[in-house]
Amino acid sequence: MKLSITILLTTLAACTGTARAKLNVVTTLADYAAIAREIGGDHVEITSMAKPTEDPHFVDARPSFVVKLRAADILIEGGAELEVGWLPPLLQTARNSKLETGAVGRVQASEGIRLLDVPATLSRAAGDVHASGNPHFMIDPIIAKAVAAHIARAFATADPANAASYVTNEKKFESTIDAKLQEWGKALLPFRGQHLAAYHDDWLYFARRFGFEVDVFLEPKPGVPPSPKHLAEVIGQIKSVHIKAILVEPFHNRKIAEKVASSTGAHVVDGAQYPEALPNTATYVQLIDVLVARLTTALKN
Ligand SMILES: [Zn+2]
Repeated sequence: MKLSITILLTTLAACTGTARAKLNVVTTLADYAAIAREIGGDHVEITSMAKPTEDPHFVDARPSFVVKLRAADILIEGGAELEVGWLPPLLQTARNSKLETGAVGRVQASEGIRLLDVPATLSRAAGDVHASGNPHFMIDPIIAKAVAAHIARAFATADPANAASYVTNEKKFESTIDAKLQEWGKALLPFRGQHLAAYHDDWLYFARRFGFEVDVFLEPKPGVPPSPKHLAEVIGQIKSVHIKAILVEPFHNRKIAEKVASSTGAHVVDGAQYPEALPNTATYVQLIDVLVARLTTALKN
């Protein structure tokens, strides 16, 4: 009897130990997952709901997401309506009190970040998916640093035993970005002030950071597919401003961008905003490296 109680207690201790060993983190998108992985290291288990190659506005909400959310200690999401089309019903079904707005387990990346293009009056007319401001802020490395700090604070609060490790990893991420910013800025310096075109209006924060103007869009409004009439106008704009690059992402209709490119002499640049969407982009820094390299190549020619 005594022996079996000892075994029972040992087993219980082991179970508790295992349960405590890792923070269970769910992210909406792959950029949050990549940064959370760098901050959390071996102390966290991370799942991103959206695939890196999926359109973040229109993610297929699979039933397995509810299961993940139910078991999560922490949810990292944008909080700026990027995931508004698919996240709220999943959270409602999962009913996990740890992830309620304001709880330690709910990280809203946009908290404390000044959104750009916030309209004076809110309107979702004609399917505009950026009705409350542009939600694609993570592609600015300085904003990514702020979000990394936010994630580190949340991890440290939820798991104080490993707080020191989260702080160290966050500092490391910050200093890597700082060093890289010099390099990226230098590579892009010759092209400062140039205008670029994009399929979707999601390069605003990147452009602001590195001194571009991305102001011609294949979509007539964010989230609305290109129409022939609109594309004719776009071709005229690209020609008149001598735009050399059209940025597309894996989930966009590349054929449309190719047509515009062949009518104007611009290059289609395969970009992405999510680590692992392009080859050799496992980390956030590697993603920016690849974007800078691809843009530089397109703008040189
Ligand atoms: Zn968007």
